[in-house]
Amino acid sequence: MTSPVVIIGTGLAGYNLAREFRKLDGETPLLLITADDGRSYSKPMLSTGFAKLKDADGLCMAEPGAMAEQLKAEIRTHTRISGIDPGHKRLWIGEEAVAYRDLVLAWGAQTVQVPIEGDAGGQVFPINDLEDYARFRAAAAGKQRVLVLGAGLIGCEFANDMSLGGLKVDVVAPCEQVMPTLLHPAAAAAVQAGLEGLGVRFHLGPVLTRLQRVAEGLEAHLSDGSVIACDLVVSAIGLRPRTDLAAAAGLKINRGVAVDRQLQTSHDNIYALGDCAEVDGINLLYVMPLMSCARALAQTLAGNPTAVSYGPMPITVKTPACPLVVSPPPQGREGNWQVQGQGSDLKVLCHDADGTLLGYALTGAAVMEKLALNRQLPPVMA
Ligand SMILES: Cc1cc2nc3c(=O)[nH]c(=O)nc-3n(C[C@H](O)[C@H](O)[C@H](O)COP(=O)(O)OP(=O)(O)OC[C@H]3O[C@@H](n4cnc5c(N)ncnc54)[C@H](O)[C@@H]3O)c2cc1C
Repeated sequence: MTSPVVIIGTGLAGYNLAREFRKLDGETPLLLITADDGRSYSKPMLSTGFAKLKDADGLCMAEPGAMAEQLKAEIRTHTRISGIDPGHKRLWIGEEAVAYRDLVLAWGAQTVQVPIEGDAGGQVFPINDLEDYARFRAAAAGKQRVLVLGAGLIGCEFANDMSLGGLKVDVVAPCEQVMPTLLHPAAAAAVQAGLEGLGVRFHLGPVLTRLQRVAEGLEAHLSDGSVIACDLVVSAIGLRPRTDLAAAAGLKINRGVAVDRQLQTSHDNIYALGDCAEVDGINLLYVMPLMSCARALAQTLAGNPTAVSYGPMPITVKTPACPLVVSPPPQGREGNWQVQGQGSDLKVLCHDADGTLLGYALTGAAVMEKLALNRQLPPVMA
């Protein structure tokens, strides 16, 4: 019997690859394996669902049974792979060996967690999948005050959503501005002001050191000595590509599982895409790049080796309190930043020495200019 194409992970990367592959090949056996419940959902909705009163079931787009039928695939849920044996083209689920024709790692990134002292560590909720979201929703029922750890893109989106959903929101992060790795300070200030307009309170600089139960909820003790009263804590302090099993199998690792333009790892017949993959030196944890990878890899798996390329990849950040679209300069390219506009409506542009547009951040009403600017942007990976 022909060994299947095996995809590890049923997030957007795994399911979109399976869909693209099935457009080209309806026959090759396809097996998807996932540690979670295998429900299909759009992860970006996790940071807009609270205000829309959506629970996890409301965000689910399809059950795994329906996905299996649609994809003509076997889907094994609540199944965690524990090892890869590239030499014998098989993987391990505990003691069970599963042979593959081609193996695709679409196992995502894991939330960064830091140890927090105190007796309320169980009240810290990372939200990186539908099951995390369900746990958070259950814990948030009837609560009024949330502390968000992290002021990156996802922390700001949660702050906006939870604030719109009626929670009183405090944000704690050890940085000087919101989205420090993504935004020019002027654009960051505009976004922060927009969120503050909703009532979000920022505590930028300190970290959470201790979380303690008290009669009225929780007390969050910060490293600057201040104390914030809250009912639960959402952690959005970062994501780290999952690499451990790939490293143990001898695959090359950088910031993610290293793959070339054909999404192939350092080993034949093993590929990677999505949050776990570093594609030709670039690890992007967004939807647009993984869709490009899914289309290219589907071709390769169907017998037509295809290299991926990335065009401009602007990111629409879901902070309606201050609309934001950002396109950072391509990796390794430096330029000069220039700020135009005022108040919350800013056009922040980055040009190189020749005047070529490398990147931008648009806030407020200036987001209307994104289409015109996108046409001038260089590709992220030509
Ligand atoms: C709150 C939030 C909002 C976001 N908003 C946006 C946005 O607006 N726009 C945007 O472009 N991007 C956004 N992103 C990022 C985007 O959603 C991700 O880049 C994308 O969903 C990653 O998909 P993935 O399939 O690579 O990983 P995941 O969705 O994490 O899937 C990983 C899969 O691998 C499985 N798995 C892991 N380990 C194992 C194992 N050992 N064995 C078996 N299975 C395993 C998991 O169970 C899961 O099925 C957001 C992310 C978050 C967290």
